[in-house]
Amino acid sequence: MSLLQVQGLRKSFGGVQAVQGVSFALQAGELLALIGPNGAGKSTTFNLVGGQILPDAGRVLLQGQDITGLAPRAVWRRGVGRTFQIAQTFASFTVLQNVQMALLSHDRHAWRWWRRADAHRPQDALALLEQVGMAAQAQRPCSALAYGDVKRVELAMALAHAPALLLMDEPTAGMAPAERLALMQLVQRIARERHMGVLFTEHSMDVVFGLADRVAVLVRGQLLAEGTPQQIQDDARVQAAYLGT
Ligand code: ADP
Ligand code: MG
Repeated sequence: MSLLQVQGLRKSFGGVQAVQGVSFALQAGELLALIGPNGAGKSTTFNLVGGQILPDAGRVLLQGQDITGLAPRAVWRRGVGRTFQIAQTFASFTVLQNVQMALLSHDRHAWRWWRRADAHRPQDALALLEQVGMAAQAQRPCSALAYGDVKRVELAMALAHAPALLLMDEPTAGMAPAERLALMQLVQRIARERHMGVLFTEHSMDVVFGLADRVAVLVRGQLLAEGTPQQIQDDARVQAAYLGT
């Protein structure tokens, strides 16, 4: 069974048909890149999967269970994590505290910790920071970090919830090319280790074709093609419509 199945998703905003019957599947441990020009409907697709917006039609299945129309928090609880285009951390808190708060946010007994978030599972937070290569900076405030490192902290925060599926809408926006590849290599390694599926958008074709297991191409709200990086690069329709070669 696929980790994620998107079936015939549709969404219009007024007269704009942002997503027009999009279907794809994603397996556990796999990186699927959703690419396409600006306005193609990538973010709308992410928001439909994450529950931020409701589809006009179609279904989203997670491990075979229908999660269509669930609220974002309910989707998150079922194991769908997210990172954002602009990394979201608490700037004045330390790296460690940020991850501790992320761990706290899905603790059913969080209220017991409301005065002492600092004391909450520091070892678990540190272990997550080790996974993303940020343990050495655990005591620094996030405001003092380079942007690429903030992205790593955000990744650790998303992993705190042990998601089965991670949604990353333009995770490397604002980063230098070398940093982009490094961040997504890290994501790939973690996806393999945890058997976690990753759906991501990315403008750097080096990252897309170098790291994704499969690529889906969205143009004007429709899926133009889907396949391995090699199949997509060789696809004449994709070249004509998007890659511009
Ligand atoms: P992408 O992420 O691929 O750049 P989006 O999903 O953000 O594309 O947008 C797809 C289309 O839907 C665009 O034409 C965009 O202007 C429109 N759109 C997206 N969100 C909204 C919204 N909340 N209200 C109105 N139009 C929207
Ligand atoms: Mg977008």
